[in-house]
Amino acid sequence: MKPRAVLIGLDGATFSILDPLMEEGVMPSLSLLIASGARSELASVIPPLTPPAWTSLMTGRSPGNHGIFDFLRFDLRTGKPQLRVLDSDDVACETIWAMLSRQGLTATVLNFPMTFPARGISGNVVPGWVPWRHLRLACYPRTLYDCLSKALPGFNPRELAMDMAVEERALEGCHREEDYENLIQLHIRRERQWFHALQYLMREEPADLTAVLFDGVDKLQHFAWRFLDRAIFPASPSALETRVRGWCLDYFREIDRFIGEIVAGSGPDASIFIASDHGFGPTVEVFYLNQWLHEHGYLAWANAANVEQKHPETLGMGTMARRFYEIDWSKTTAYCPTPSGNGIFICPPTADGGVPAERYENFRQELADALLRFTDPATGQPVVTRIWTREQAFSGSQGDSAPDLTLMLRDGGLVSILPSEVLLKPRDHAAGAHRPNGVFVAAGRGIRRAASLSSLSILDVAPSILYSLGLPIPEDLEGRVPKVLFEPEHLRAHPVTFAAASGAHAPAEELPEMDPRMEAEVMGQLRALGYME
Ligand SMILES: [Zn+2]
Repeated sequence: MKPRAVLIGLDGATFSILDPLMEEGVMPSLSLLIASGARSELASVIPPLTPPAWTSLMTGRSPGNHGIFDFLRFDLRTGKPQLRVLDSDDVACETIWAMLSRQGLTATVLNFPMTFPARGISGNVVPGWVPWRHLRLACYPRTLYDCLSKALPGFNPRELAMDMAVEERALEGCHREEDYENLIQLHIRRERQWFHALQYLMREEPADLTAVLFDGVDKLQHFAWRFLDRAIFPASPSALETRVRGWCLDYFREIDRFIGEIVAGSGPDASIFIASDHGFGPTVEVFYLNQWLHEHGYLAWANAANVEQKHPETLGMGTMARRFYEIDWSKTTAYCPTPSGNGIFICPPTADGGVPAERYENFRQELADALLRFTDPATGQPVVTRIWTREQAFSGSQGDSAPDLTLMLRDGGLVSILPSEVLLKPRDHAAGAHRPNGVFVAAGRGIRRAASLSSLSILDVAPSILYSLGLPIPEDLEGRVPKVLFEPEHLRAHPVTFAAASGAHAPAEELPEMDPRMEAEVMGQLRALGYME
């Protein structure tokens, strides 16, 4: 029997949420799968953010090599600051689906980030993070969209893909009970759309590797963390809290149903992998990094009066682009351009400013030291707990476009890039923020049963899938096949083999490009997710 593999991605899934849900009986299929296989925490990349982390999972390479550090790429080197949304063209390494295609195997790939524009593989791709109006052209092969829209009863691209109109409206406050209900129901319907597409393709065009990403887990955890986290959920909840938690559990029950049906539909010979790109935890405060840079003489706002007048809650799409006009670049030496990557860029030398090359090392060290010395005035505790330099976090062929410094905050949250009257502000309610440890579950051919393993790396997922499919591991992959995951007899009967480096991905043929409107919609999606205050 030819080995097959299934990868179920659960964006942002964390055992601190999943374990209590399994104990409560909300996720019986996941419990069963874990009992029949192995589980472990999955160490994400730096920063533990959706685009770099999934790209590492898909390529087996670290961000310094695949070149994806954030949702957006910031470039100051041209003299004029530029910020653009990254796409599959920016991924500098071969993906696992391309490795399969190269060796005559097929893949179905649904809803993964950084897969737009979809590149030709043997199989089917519906990319994630695509505004619904662009979905038809975004799919590979080109006929796939029409095929799905005809075959799937209730097919609705507005629910399957991104629809800013719906999500912005649903998120406008999330103060009222019905806002939460509408938003959670939307995510349940969205996952059903992906699940139906998956079921259809598994039936009609079964592939060697079937991969689907359910990304509502991340979204629910961002906006409904305080209802999900047992550790902070009140012992005597209000009616609202009880109801919102109930809807959240409905969502996870539905995900569990998908897991059960996917496992049943894959047959006994398939290897099943579940993985998340990062974990999750609470964030309780906001650190205004650019304001800190301003107050410490690194950043100059171009028009302070204008900045102060702005009401952060009304800033919408293009927020980040507009911020550029509010920076006086001639007087700015360090800047955080995005609210998602916790990264600081040091301005390169120009005719009228920037940091000269000979001062760079000292400048960077002084800046990092000053940030690490910054303490919460209320408690005297440090706010920035760790800082990586570009070389530490992003060594590799693509490291040049990475931030000069990447920060970890004491509450695991993301910095704010906005001006502010205070440097540190408590949040009204705990929100969800990413954590380094995601989840990994595997079951099937040769995989140990009832095994709880110490943490694996997200870089190990691609080699593990390749191994399960009987393929050699390209030498340039940075992860490994974790021997502890497999039965010793299986490893003896099927030794891990290696092949020459996979190299870069194939150059693009005629692919649709991200136009400015699509870029604006993706920016809007970031705002909807809470990345833009
Ligand atoms: Zn994520």
